[in-house]
Amino acid sequence: MAQAPNHALPSYLDAEHLGPWGIYLQQVDRVTPYLGNLARWVETLKRPKRALIVDVPIEMDDGRIAHFEGYRVQHNVSRGPGKGGVRFHQDVTLSEVMALSAWMSIKNAAVNLPFGGAKGGIRVDPRTLSKSELERMTRRYTSEIGVIIGPSKDIPAPDVNTNSQVMAWMMDTYSMNSGSTATGVVTGKPISLGGSLGRVDATGRGVFVVGCEAARDQGVPVAGARVIVQGFGNVGGTAARLFHEAGAKVIAVQDHTGAIHKPDGLDVPALLVHVATHGGVGGFANAQPLDPADFWSVETEFLIPAALENQINESNAAKIRAKIVVEGANGPTTPAADDILHDKGIYLVPDVLANAGGVTVSYFEWVQDFSSFFWSEDEINQRLERLMREAYAAIAHMAREHKVTLRTAAFIVACSRILQAREVRGLYP
Ligand code: NAD
Repeated sequence: MAQAPNHALPSYLDAEHLGPWGIYLQQVDRVTPYLGNLARWVETLKRPKRALIVDVPIEMDDGRIAHFEGYRVQHNVSRGPGKGGVRFHQDVTLSEVMALSAWMSIKNAAVNLPFGGAKGGIRVDPRTLSKSELERMTRRYTSEIGVIIGPSKDIPAPDVNTNSQVMAWMMDTYSMNSGSTATGVVTGKPISLGGSLGRVDATGRGVFVVGCEAARDQGVPVAGARVIVQGFGNVGGTAARLFHEAGAKVIAVQDHTGAIHKPDGLDVPALLVHVATHGGVGGFANAQPLDPADFWSVETEFLIPAALENQINESNAAKIRAKIVVEGANGPTTPAADDILHDKGIYLVPDVLANAGGVTVSYFEWVQDFSSFFWSEDEINQRLERLMREAYAAIAHMAREHKVTLRTAAFIVACSRILQAREVRGLYP
């Protein structure tokens, strides 16, 4: 009897131009040899469970009817409801949303949150919309994807160009359609609507916590250690502040306005005030300006990329003189640069672990919404630190066992957890 074809790719993707989804598939292929008997289920990871494409028509302020293309992809829900952000950007594509949803499956499983992975987006430049157009588009999009989201099905959150106000509109629209107030349908909400304390600092705090764990493993004392940070926004600014408070010296910072250097340590609280007032680190008085290209070769114990993707690449990786890299940003290191850093003996804590503090506190927000009982900021920070430490320990153990990098180990841990859940659940029907 002829075997049923087992296509490696969903037919709705162009095999020649896979985009980010192609990168994700390569990552899965790389860890498959480590999955043992679970490798039999690996195809599960190579296709999203559900991909919904929706038309989002709205009436513009001038009376025209505009149509936007929206997506919600649930990559995997074997371990719990889908979880992942919503991105409003003119370059959003199905391939990108699929890859981002898959990386959410990996991140959530790597830190052992009881969630699957999902992601959504609208192909739009939100800066071209008025506030009321943005609200109408958000509400119509929420209504269109309302058939697959819900507090126990799939829980969106903010991502690029979406914020707590967008989450409030999504929560309200979903609640109106379902006939009851459902705060747990999104996270990243305003505090007044069931948002969580500690969410703003959560990602930077997680970077700091796993950075300290890595330092202990590498025999590097944090007090007195040098730190350089690319990106001084939510993630980079918070991580820098926490390292500074722990007695480390932040000696160089680079952002979109330039780079600065002070070998005996920058005044981080003053720099945070400068950035809040001037929009960037450029022009900070008490430091020397640095050519942004020279930022990468500053000798340091910690390097924290916390800006954009692909910042550490073949052109600068060989110059890096850090002992430990902690990836605050998503995808800051290209695969080629990863190999260069590894060959140089640099210890790298990958994004799926290092920046998981944000989704971890999103998980706490969802739990608090369900129980309608809210925790203090101290409780949240303590629970976050415990979860991040446990995640680091499990991944570092896997790395030692298989003699692989922390990135590969994080993928092995995550893929194994997802496929174990898949296996014990069994196939329906
Ligand atoms: P943000 O907008 O608060 O800050 C971004 C920083 O990057 C700014 O300091 C900006 O000046 C800098 N930057 C922008 N373009 C740059 C360039 N060309 N060169 C150097 N620096 C540049 O953003 P954020 O929330 O801190 O996010 C930073 C990264 O962390 C992103 O990759 C994001 O996906 C990732 N991340 C954020 C969270 C979160 O909770 N905020 C969670 C997980 C991952």
